[in-house]
Amino acid sequence: MHDVLVVGSGPSGSYVSYSLARLGFDVVNMEEHREVGRPVECTGLVSERVFKYVKTKAEVNSVNGAHIFFPNGKSIHIHKGDRTIVMDRDQFDKDASAMAISSGANIMINSRVLSVKVDDEGVTARYRQDGNLKEIRSRIVVGADGVNSIVRKELGYPRPSRVISTYQVDSAARMEDQNSVNVYVGSQSTRGFFGWATPAGELSKIGVGTYRKPAFDHFQYINRKFGSQKILGINGGGIPLTFLKKTYGKRNLLVGDAAGIVKPLSGGGIFTGIVSARHASEAIRNVLENEDFSENSLSGYQAGWRGELGLELRFDAMAQRFFSGIPDSSLNKIYNILSSPKNIETINKLGDIDFPSKVILSILLRNPGIIPHAFRRNGS
Ligand SMILES: Cc1cc2nc3c(=O)[nH]c(=O)nc-3n(C[C@H](O)[C@H](O)[C@H](O)COP(=O)(O)OP(=O)(O)OC[C@H]3O[C@@H](n4cnc5c(N)ncnc54)[C@H](O)[C@@H]3O)c2cc1C
Repeated sequence: MHDVLVVGSGPSGSYVSYSLARLGFDVVNMEEHREVGRPVECTGLVSERVFKYVKTKAEVNSVNGAHIFFPNGKSIHIHKGDRTIVMDRDQFDKDASAMAISSGANIMINSRVLSVKVDDEGVTARYRQDGNLKEIRSRIVVGADGVNSIVRKELGYPRPSRVISTYQVDSAARMEDQNSVNVYVGSQSTRGFFGWATPAGELSKIGVGTYRKPAFDHFQYINRKFGSQKILGINGGGIPLTFLKKTYGKRNLLVGDAAGIVKPLSGGGIFTGIVSARHASEAIRNVLENEDFSENSLSGYQAGWRGELGLELRFDAMAQRFFSGIPDSSLNKIYNILSSPKNIETINKLGDIDFPSKVILSILLRNPGIIPHAFRRNGS
């Protein structure tokens, strides 16, 4: 029987596999696709914090600012001291998986987990590999299998309550400002989230997220400046914006997107997924060393990741819900407030892609006039 079965070789799964294998545990990591890192469903924007966890040469560009476009067509430009990395996500996932392999994890690609059952002695997973149905036994299972997690479903967890749809393209339209991302808000650009264009040299990642509405129409609006004849590839997928109340059970836990551990304001889940993976590894290590596989023995996992990220994610989820429904007229008024030099200075000083609550709170405290706009809804 293996010590740990990790389902999914995204950043979260690879990081759990790496951390536990380097401690000497017998780790199997299954990936349903024929290639780790593919297909790419990501923009690849991360803070430098991520590069402290994964040794990678995936950086293709870095930005230190954003142009935020409002419905009135005007924009504000914010600027940060720190770099935000634009990376080749395929390469990043391969590098994270290579770290797991070098530390001794057994990666099985083209292996799709179909069912998971927990009993008193262990976990049985059925999977399909090269067309053959097989079974594997482990002492613990980790669901690192993304937004549509089969582990989560099989073990009776609910789905994250708020999941946005995205439509993104790789475009050959080179963005003029290679140091800033574009962010688009307003009813033409999105419903319930935002649109974006990210410079990555000759390529740009242009996309949009929407909640309970098709993303494609909004994408066309954003992409009109970039040109449909320049599209090289289409991708996208769901992004969970709310985490599960409970992320562990007897002999199992969920990490990253599978548990909805994602930054709700940006939809970024690489950093938060890896942080959850780090806490998961610590909890699993204790369980394996103490041979106590009860549900309670894994509760430290949730206490750990929520202690580090929980408050931030809860605040951001609330802010996301409020700000995502604001009508265009109110967004334009917010533009008038935010574009003052004092507010731009505050945003530049306090903005942090991983921990945005500080800048939001500070702006709201200085400009309470924004608050009534946050409560306005389309049609009100
Ligand atoms: C369009 C888009 C843009 C994004 N941009 C950013 C960004 O700029 N920055 C950022 O931080 N985040 C971004 N995200 C979010 C980010 O991609 C995810 O949060 C991140 O990938 C989560 O990592 P994970 O390892 O938890 O899950 P995933 O990366 O989804 O990995 C899950 C893995 O499990 C595998 N799997 C699934 N089911 C099974 C099964 N049954 N058996 C075996 N394997 C299975 C999948 O093939 C996959 O490889 C974006 C998402 C989208 C959709």
